[in-house]
Amino acid sequence: MSHLIATLALKYEDDVVAARQRARQVTRLLEFDERDQTRIGTAVSEVARQVLQSAKGGDVQFLLEGETSPQVLQVCIAERAAVPGKRANRSKTPEPNHARELDRTDAVVAAHRLMDQCRVEWQEGRRSVRLTRILPRRAPVFSPAQLKTLSEQLHDQPPQSPWDEVKQQNQELLRALEELRLRQEELVRVNQELEDTNRGVVALYAELDEKAEHLRRADDMKSRFLSNTSHEFRTPLNSILGISRLLLDRTDGDLTDEQDKQVHYIRKSAEELLETVNDLLDLAKIEAGKIDIIPSEFEVATLFSALRGMLKPLLVSNAVSLVFSDASGLPTLYTDERKVSQILRNFISNALKFTERGTVEVSAASTPDGQAVEFTVTDTGIGITEEDQAIIFEEFTQVDHPLQRGVKGTGLGLPLCRHLAMLLGGSVRVSSRVAQGSIFTATIPIRYAGTEEAGGSVEELLVDSERVPLLIVEDEPETRLLYAKYLRGTPFQPVAAGSIRQAREMLRRQRPAAIVLDVVLPNENSWAWLAELKADERTSGIPIIVATNVEDERKGLALGADAYCMKPLDRTGLLKQLKEVTGHRMPGTPEERPLVLVIDDQEAARYVLRRLLKSGGYGIIEAANGADGLRVAAERQPDLIMLDLAMPGMSGYEVLQRLKGDPRTDWIPVAIVTSQAMSEDQQRLVRDAQVVITKDQLSLGRLMPVMSALGIAKKV
Ligand code: ADP
Repeated sequence: MSHLIATLALKYEDDVVAARQRARQVTRLLEFDERDQTRIGTAVSEVARQVLQSAKGGDVQFLLEGETSPQVLQVCIAERAAVPGKRANRSKTPEPNHARELDRTDAVVAAHRLMDQCRVEWQEGRRSVRLTRILPRRAPVFSPAQLKTLSEQLHDQPPQSPWDEVKQQNQELLRALEELRLRQEELVRVNQELEDTNRGVVALYAELDEKAEHLRRADDMKSRFLSNTSHEFRTPLNSILGISRLLLDRTDGDLTDEQDKQVHYIRKSAEELLETVNDLLDLAKIEAGKIDIIPSEFEVATLFSALRGMLKPLLVSNAVSLVFSDASGLPTLYTDERKVSQILRNFISNALKFTERGTVEVSAASTPDGQAVEFTVTDTGIGITEEDQAIIFEEFTQVDHPLQRGVKGTGLGLPLCRHLAMLLGGSVRVSSRVAQGSIFTATIPIRYAGTEEAGGSVEELLVDSERVPLLIVEDEPETRLLYAKYLRGTPFQPVAAGSIRQAREMLRRQRPAAIVLDVVLPNENSWAWLAELKADERTSGIPIIVATNVEDERKGLALGADAYCMKPLDRTGLLKQLKEVTGHRMPGTPEERPLVLVIDDQEAARYVLRRLLKSGGYGIIEAANGADGLRVAAERQPDLIMLDLAMPGMSGYEVLQRLKGDPRTDWIPVAIVTSQAMSEDQQRLVRDAQVVITKDQLSLGRLMPVMSALGIAKKV
């Protein structure tokens, strides 16, 4: 229902001004604010001008629609009635083309923008434009009575002169300009604020970058510090270990029982300290990304049997039993066996430490997807609270418990396990109940994804038709390279196989003059293959030299090996064996003289070696630095050089390089004696050396097999 508020006829130009004034008056009474009054006035006057121009006349109606909120103002601006001639066409249906024409005029386009709605209609032969605008929220609901009063008021308001209207419009313009200026200022302010904020954000990012760089450097420094101090600690610790070993071996006379006990304590403390230092060093190396993963194929059952042997000494009480469950039927793993073993050793030794009675069970199972093996170590020990379970994988965390005080430990074992498992692409976890026991689990992917399969390819070395092929079955690429070097200048052309599978393939293609066989190839029964070769008449005539770390010469020879030598094999040793088994003539080998040159800057380390070697019946000469060592080596031509790596001035690496580069000394076997755990890079640097001995292993028992493998007979 709509109520008419006011009407106005459009005949002359002045009426356009009057329509504008009327619009403003009506909107003021209907409580539109000033800005809306101007907007509606402008829309009405623009459309009124358009209608007056196109139809030479018309009328304007101001109506209020609706009786409840929201009421709507409607302004209907209609053309004058059509000329009589056109009446014949009068129709109630809109004439689309005509209406669309009006639709596109500037006035209607402007009205669209200024009003809520603007519709061009065709009514009773007349075009009209209907403008709508909802009343402001604060306006009351106007009753018909109020509207009647309102229209009476309007009636009484005299129209303004065009002059007044211009004045009025100027004021409106000024107000609009002022508003625009204020908005512009606001915009500038907001922009400025945005700019400041952006600058702040950029500065914060820069600070964050700097902080991250700081942290990275601090982390780097921590790793370097740990690794350096660990090395620093190792040197004196190794001296303590070496000297206490000399004392315990009674090298310089007998000890009383009490002294023996005391020296044992000294040695045990040093061993414990060395273990901590080694853990720290491992962690530092992992964090610095310097740990090498050496994957190989192995069976879980073999790993379990090695662990069983290693951990038996830890079983101190009869109240606890260590059980390994059946691991047959599990897939063969291809990953770093030593790292997996290290993780499990840590789990098991913890379980044994924290279990007073019951069982520690070690088991393994495939994960449901078959992609990994889950190793679990279950104990019936003291258990760990949920709160502590969350922190024990962090460095230096130990749980306070009476049992804890009686056992040694650093809180580094589990963090190391976690890091190692992650390196292998796996994870560790724990579940536990206090006073009932704990289950530690390590999930290790079956295939280590980091590198390609170990072992050389058959095509690794091209066959040289001038020389006879020699098959080297050896999984360590370094050792294969070493053999290849030894064989330079000999009638033998090395052909390498990294596994028995590859060796079989190779044998199908050619017949070697001999086979050098490593019997501890990971996960391969090389003993069985040896027997098989000797049983097969096609291959039984090929001489086989077993080169191994496993001391079982009787077994080797019984299975048909033609020669048996302990690794590491030096050039002289290898050539001698080859000459014996193949009858080929070899280049001359030096006369054997068991004289050992020790090059080490540390007095204590030289002392330990001197005592050891003397008691072993070797002649010994010493040099306290690299330069002296080189000179003495060339002059005295010793049978073996024992060389320290970390020396001030010329390092052991350089000494080694020079020894091997000098024809007077290049044939002398070199044993690297070091207190450092060597990275893969460092190991590559000392590839020319025949053996690496760590100082904490120095004892006559360990040294002798090395010496005999090097072919250095002792003079007693
Ligand atoms: P630690 O050298 O002290 O053994 P770890 O990092 O290996 O260091 O272990 C951290 C702590 O976690 C241990 O000190 C012990 O409090 C707790 N813990 C580890 N394994 C077990 C377990 N099987 N039962 C109960 N507590 C354990």
